[in-house]
Amino acid sequence: MPQSLQNIAYLVAGVLFILSLGGLSKQASAGRGNAFGIAGMVIALVATAAHPAVKGYGVLAAAIGIGAVIGAVLAARVAMTSMPQLVAVLHSFVGAAAVLVGVASFLAPPADLTGAEAVIHEVEVFLGVFIGAITFTGSIVAYGKLQGLIRSKPLLLPGRHLANLAMVGASALLCAQFLSAQEHGGLQPLLIMTAIAGVLGIHLVMAIGGADMPVVVSMLNSYSGWAAAAAGFMLANDLLIITGALVGSSGAILSYIMCKAMNRSIVSVIFGGFGADEGAAPAKGAGEPQGEVVSVTAAETATLLAEAKSVVVVPGYGMAVAQAQYPLWEVAKLLVDRGVKVRFAIHPVAGRLPGHMNVLLAEAKVPYDIVLEMDEINEDFPETDAVLVIGANDIVNPGALDDTSSPIYGMPVLEVWKAKSCVVMKRSMASGYAGVENPLFFKENTRMLFGDAKKTVDAILDELRAATGAKAA
Ligand code: NDP
Repeated sequence: MPQSLQNIAYLVAGVLFILSLGGLSKQASAGRGNAFGIAGMVIALVATAAHPAVKGYGVLAAAIGIGAVIGAVLAARVAMTSMPQLVAVLHSFVGAAAVLVGVASFLAPPADLTGAEAVIHEVEVFLGVFIGAITFTGSIVAYGKLQGLIRSKPLLLPGRHLANLAMVGASALLCAQFLSAQEHGGLQPLLIMTAIAGVLGIHLVMAIGGADMPVVVSMLNSYSGWAAAAAGFMLANDLLIITGALVGSSGAILSYIMCKAMNRSIVSVIFGGFGADEGAAPAKGAGEPQGEVVSVTAAETATLLAEAKSVVVVPGYGMAVAQAQYPLWEVAKLLVDRGVKVRFAIHPVAGRLPGHMNVLLAEAKVPYDIVLEMDEINEDFPETDAVLVIGANDIVNPGALDDTSSPIYGMPVLEVWKAKSCVVMKRSMASGYAGVENPLFFKENTRMLFGDAKKTVDAILDELRAATGAKAA
């Protein structure tokens, strides 16, 4: 393929990636956005493979084939609730690729580079490897934390910020040594820096508490984009630079939006230890009773919902685990048929990945116009007759607003307790992801409906059908 044609193909792919991001920003256009992304990636792969410098098509086809099979099997098997772990692992691949491309590009640099161009190339290599190594090890630790292999409590070593600073300082010194070395003499400082950056990645993510993991996953997404962009500079590949910059900046913007939604300072998330100050009083443990809870049956819940004028449903991680979105929408439809105003309220960090609840509700065909974001619905709770909290916990915890010792203190939450009544569906009194007790369960207007979310929603559905004479679909 001639260079000019490849440039045009890269340009088209770049535009498709931008359209893809635009499409993915809204649920209604997400499918189209995905299609743009796939088309862009196919064009990018074909154009790259058709470059005259690419010779070993057999090896390339085998690598793509093996990668595609592993990717397809993993994607088909992974439960929606384990998606963040998968994303974290995928970020680690980007980091590892940036390190390998960097070292290879240093050992076999483009032949025509001299003077300032050669120095710029070496700086690109050094930065690419630095960001790549942090992304690689940081993503592996994030995977371990999300998978429960590593404890989610932040590791707060004394003088941790100084240690981070020392590692960045040492890397800067090694960069100077790397740039002044002759021939392959720079390999040693490059590899030492890789090891230091790897430790820095581990330390940075180890210091971040479980409650901040959503932001960390999106930060690592951003890092992986910058690592890819750096690899693009090393390989003089414009499309890789564009794609890396798109991923890097969109990941950074998403992190910022999530931090704002959780009332976190992005700096404290990056440097870790938020909400886990050594001197702070311990958060209330999950086992400490705060009073009596009142439980209800599915039949009583069905009556409460049927008699309400307005109902807000708040889904959380437990709905995803139970896969209760399908009968839930059946319940909502029956209520709507009875003239009840039903809406769904989505917290920005509900579930285990950004947009988790939106995806599940879209699967069940819940119309987008009754699915509202936290800011759009929080003011409506005082005028709401009944709230149905289904498998959500941290995102409806009033302690986030008034308990300064809580690890989630400062995170805006859905203020469901302001409604006339609130039914919380979960299996036990266990705490949620952040491991803190929820005073909501003990409020006067709260009722607990214990059991697996799918089974209890099915039971409510049966009750409503029996009451209205509706038939099962
Ligand atoms: P939580 O993890 O706070 O609570 C989920 C609740 O669901 C649990 O208390 C559990 O209680 C209940 N549950 C689990 N399985 C079932 C089931 N089968 N049927 C009924 N209930 C069930 O979830 P939230 O959505 O409220 O909050 C999300 C949390 O996850 C936040 O702390 C957020 O920071 C964090 N997080 C979010 C990410 C994101 O990007 N969205 C990524 C990583 C973490 P019980 O065991 O008693 O049933």
